[in-house]
Amino acid sequence: MEKIATIVTKDEIQRKVAELGSLISVDYKDRDVVLVCNLKGAFIFLADLCRHITARISIDFIATTSYKGTRSTGTVRIIKDLKLDVRGKHILLVEDIVDTGYTLDYTMKYLALHGPESIRVCTLLDKRCKREIDVNIDYIGFEVSDRFVIGYGLDYDERFRELDYIGEIIQEEN
Ligand code: 5GP
Repeated sequence: MEKIATIVTKDEIQRKVAELGSLISVDYKDRDVVLVCNLKGAFIFLADLCRHITARISIDFIATTSYKGTRSTGTVRIIKDLKLDVRGKHILLVEDIVDTGYTLDYTMKYLALHGPESIRVCTLLDKRCKREIDVNIDYIGFEVSDRFVIGYGLDYDERFRELDYIGEIIQEEN
């Protein structure tokens, strides 16, 4: 049997997303920004966040893979590329969680090849204690400790993405 312990509540997430949206709106005031969502984990965060941003936005998706179950395989691959031409544009990369930092580092370098004017990063969760590579993050929702979290877009083998809170699976013996 599995039980889920809440780590960040729905209300806490919603308040934080509104706060991040306001900060981003001020920083990108009167500018065009392309929100690039890293699939799949950031899709719910992006959907909520974009509705709190008042700057002129467009949206695109990229997909990377490195995880299998609860472990990073260490090798990052792009499995879905951008559709928009981002040359000369401001990119805000929207991430679900930064753990070792390899995915973000790889994605930033990959996006830079498309010739944008600037790239900034907004992540819902930061598992800073697990960082193996130095990466710069401009907007952070919550810091989490060394645990495997699910919900609000994040999965465990494709389950639990639909939860409106962030939790951790507790394995119960029966
Ligand atoms: P990194 O390359 O920074 O180690 O890992 C980043 C990616 O690994 C995230 O985009 C996410 O897909 C996955 N990941 C890392 N930690 C967790 C976690 O605690 N829960 C879930 N569901 N995915 C995670």
